[in-house]
Amino acid sequence: MQAKYEPMQMTIGRAPTLPPLSLYFILILAWFRPAAGASLQAPPPKPNILLIVSDDQGYADAGFQGSKEIPTPNLDRLAKSGMHCTSGYVTHPFCSPTRAALLTGRYQQRFGHVYNPFYDPADAREGLPLGEKLLPEHLRGAGYATGWMGKWHLGASPEHAPEHRGFEEGFGFIGGGHHYFNWKPGKGEYNLPILRNGQEVEVPEHYTTRLGEEAANFEKRHADHPWFLYLAFNAPHMPHQPTPERIARFSHIQNRQRARYAAQISLMDDAIGEVLAALDASHQRERTLIFFFTDNGGPVNVGAVNTPLRGSKGDVFEGGIRVPYLVSWPGRIPAGSTYVQPVSSVDVFATALAVAGARMPTDKVYDSVNLLPHLNGENMSAPHERLFWRTGTGQLAAVRQGDWKLVRQENKPDELYNLATDISETKNLAGANPEKIHQLSLALDTWQKPLPPPAFIGTSRNEKPATTTATRPPTTPAR
Ligand code: CA
Repeated sequence: MQAKYEPMQMTIGRAPTLPPLSLYFILILAWFRPAAGASLQAPPPKPNILLIVSDDQGYADAGFQGSKEIPTPNLDRLAKSGMHCTSGYVTHPFCSPTRAALLTGRYQQRFGHVYNPFYDPADAREGLPLGEKLLPEHLRGAGYATGWMGKWHLGASPEHAPEHRGFEEGFGFIGGGHHYFNWKPGKGEYNLPILRNGQEVEVPEHYTTRLGEEAANFEKRHADHPWFLYLAFNAPHMPHQPTPERIARFSHIQNRQRARYAAQISLMDDAIGEVLAALDASHQRERTLIFFFTDNGGPVNVGAVNTPLRGSKGDVFEGGIRVPYLVSWPGRIPAGSTYVQPVSSVDVFATALAVAGARMPTDKVYDSVNLLPHLNGENMSAPHERLFWRTGTGQLAAVRQGDWKLVRQENKPDELYNLATDISETKNLAGANPEKIHQLSLALDTWQKPLPPPAFIGTSRNEKPATTTATRPPTTPAR
């Protein structure tokens, strides 16, 4: 109820009559009365943002995805606390390009990041192009502490180091993979030193759980202000080198390569458990938005990892790009719920900026969508009209629109699948649906047309004739 009072009249030339004390009290209340719609309480703190990415984990290989073979109790607990996105995609069927998109909010093809960078600390072209501003840089501007842990794989030159791309703290390795024990620095990309904030540190073997400890410490260290942590496990990516204790738990898996891979997932799940426990213990869970997904489909050498999907890592069939995908924020996203519309790894960017109260940049074309209104039911439309994929310079490409998906493989007729009735992409419906093929083909061509050539040759040099490497221009300074 609004306080009623008569304003004091200024009286010139004689002493005013003092009002009763009660009127002073009412005046004080009126002075502090908030504007309509505002609250006397301080604004809620900005939520933390925790992005957990696993590496080469198969679509089927988590408990919440239906696996009975590989227990993942902590990931399952995370799934129950939030939303399971059953049509969750990544933007690429292998490592580095997916990571480039999720940190920029743009399809990585828009800036030519279409290969894994070649490991060469002296080559400042090999990595996420330096003209792109990354999510942590934006979040620092919104008052966030920013941290990275695990695998980087976005360039090995000093210019590409995470501390120069917006991350204030870091713990991990720069390359595209790493041995889990007995690594010997100087023996190549998988033997690089493990760094803390750019400085080499001694780390015990089998460091997957150590990443969980480091992440938990980061959370506790920054409990009094908002933070963004990009926790990029290299598990269960090869080489599959889990602890003997953990391998022993998977004696029921006859394929021993798969058993070791399963043990790596189990160790990662332990680490995620530690990360979640630290959030609970420091009373931050209710104000932490968590994303979890894997960076690409499961590989071919560890059994049927993507069942029931067709294909695997490297493919634009569902097995290469459709992944386990969770979003959790207690009180803001319904717990134990499911979301069926297609969402993408690229959506982390806009969602994070929105919850941080940061403005979405408009300087370039951005593909990222703030998922929150879609996941909490405020917006019932699909986040994306279409999703696109393309490898290299177009050797493989695909587009999904609604339930329909067009798959294009070089030198083959376009294929058409209806994912609502055929998630395994077994029945090519192209012949019976010429209009749909035409519509999706046109959309894919239109999307591809403005894409620039590759910004760097990357590890594709290993797949090309020697003459390709020989014609490579000399190394130049950072662009
Ligand atoms: Ca990967």
